[in-house]
Amino acid sequence: MGKVIGIDLGTTNSCVAVLEGGQPVVISNSEGGRTTPSMVGFGKAGDRLVGQLAKRQAVTNAENTIFSIKRFIGRRWDDTQTERSRVPYDCVKGKDDTVDVQIRGRNYTPQEVSAMILQKLKQDAENYLGETVTQAVITVPAYFSDAQRQATKDAGTIAGLEVLRIINEPTAAALAYGLDKQDQEQCVLVFDLGGGTFDVSVLKIQDGIFEVLSTNGDTFLGGDDFDQAIMNYWIEANKLDVINTELRQALRLKAEEAKKALSTQNIFNDSVNDVPCAITRIKFEELIRPKIEQTIKLCQNALNDAGLTINDIQEIVMVGGSTRTPLVKRIVSEFFGKEVHDKINPDEVVALGAAIQSDVLAGNRKDILLLDVTPLSLGIETMGGLMDVIIPRNAKVPSKAGRQYTTSIDGQANMKISVYQGERDLVKENRKLAEFDLRGIPGMPAGFPKVDINFRLNADGILTVEAVELRSGVKQEVEVKPTYGLTDREVEKMLIESIQNAKEDVSKRMLI
Ligand code: ADP
Ligand code: MG
Repeated sequence: MGKVIGIDLGTTNSCVAVLEGGQPVVISNSEGGRTTPSMVGFGKAGDRLVGQLAKRQAVTNAENTIFSIKRFIGRRWDDTQTERSRVPYDCVKGKDDTVDVQIRGRNYTPQEVSAMILQKLKQDAENYLGETVTQAVITVPAYFSDAQRQATKDAGTIAGLEVLRIINEPTAAALAYGLDKQDQEQCVLVFDLGGGTFDVSVLKIQDGIFEVLSTNGDTFLGGDDFDQAIMNYWIEANKLDVINTELRQALRLKAEEAKKALSTQNIFNDSVNDVPCAITRIKFEELIRPKIEQTIKLCQNALNDAGLTINDIQEIVMVGGSTRTPLVKRIVSEFFGKEVHDKINPDEVVALGAAIQSDVLAGNRKDILLLDVTPLSLGIETMGGLMDVIIPRNAKVPSKAGRQYTTSIDGQANMKISVYQGERDLVKENRKLAEFDLRGIPGMPAGFPKVDINFRLNADGILTVEAVELRSGVKQEVEVKPTYGLTDREVEKMLIESIQNAKEDVSKRMLI
């Protein structure tokens, strides 16, 4: 069996790692970088640039350069207005309500664009390993819905990769630190500040099982804001009033350079097109402090949702390139009153964890199990529009469960099976995943047929539903690949609603 690679397919940057001699190592790309910008640029001649080369030409070719495609993958058109308004390239409504990108008259789905990035990572890994790579583990944010996970998996397939598993980014980060090795149950907070997004996840780890207790964050808070703050500071300091797009872009890149430099030095001093660009670390910290304080509020929300306080958190794991900024680490460790885990490069830690998981799946390690749990209950509609839960929320993934049903009318030949996801008692309040008919049930009196409905949830959280009438052997099976997933944080919203409406639902159920 060939090597399995671990991929962190990020909004801003991606990273690929592999296990060598029992240790995960990051694979450098062909440009010598350890991370690859998640960007694709299209040239006039139909040429395609991915990664650093795409980032370099983004200034002069903004409308033909795609970045942040992860904001659109597996999401529907109507849920992405804000995201669409913030990108310079053209978005068009695709088949199935997807958000496609139109470049030079051609449409690309987010899966295709992500596949272009994955293809480059695959190629770089093959160059490094000197062999073909066909299998991968890819990470996604903990709050990603079924549709977003499925779409990410599809991107892998398009790139020629068999995706052995989709795992949560915070889970991968915790794995890289070996936090699953503890005997006692522990709660871990993963603080992930990337380029454009902030994600905080509270995990419970016990016996190799990772349970996501809560997630919170801000989809528009990250290192880009730090760059913007520096840029605005220079614009003001130099009293620049008319700035063309090119100068603005050049200033933005210089600002990012300054920010990175200030992670290790106290002063940055340079210029762009004769515009002086200087800033001290003290000034920089003053500019970004409010943004960092915002992340602390969101950590507090995540703790509240998990029903925990700072004292319940045993470990804090720093993830994302922006946590290299010393003030971020300082404010976070002050809030929790303890040291944070920052020994592993924050922009590599997720890919390293994915590589460890790859190794487990390749059968080389027996010490780690790594199970995730399903965030919402899965069930079918029964009489009176009630939800009959077959796999409950928080069940370990993979899992299998079934139940037996019968007909309600004499001679009934067909049975409609509607599959739902959610916590409410009435299916109409939940989310419909699929509907199919079990046909050809031989004529029998009502209550006589025995219909087994079995749910199989695989390790990626994808569900297969099978219905079989036992007396006749008539059988029907569907794989549930929802076209639309739950929107960001919708899972949480559904949970909160279910709690708020619990009483009302119970009375309706009793009535039915
Ligand atoms: P994402 O997970 O969002 O794809 P990353 O985790 O790679 O992205 O984070 C990217 C962000 O990290 C960018 O804003 C980048 O400028 C920032 N970053 C990278 N290196 C440093 C550094 N040395 N100091 C401060 N910020 C950094
Ligand atoms: Mg990331």
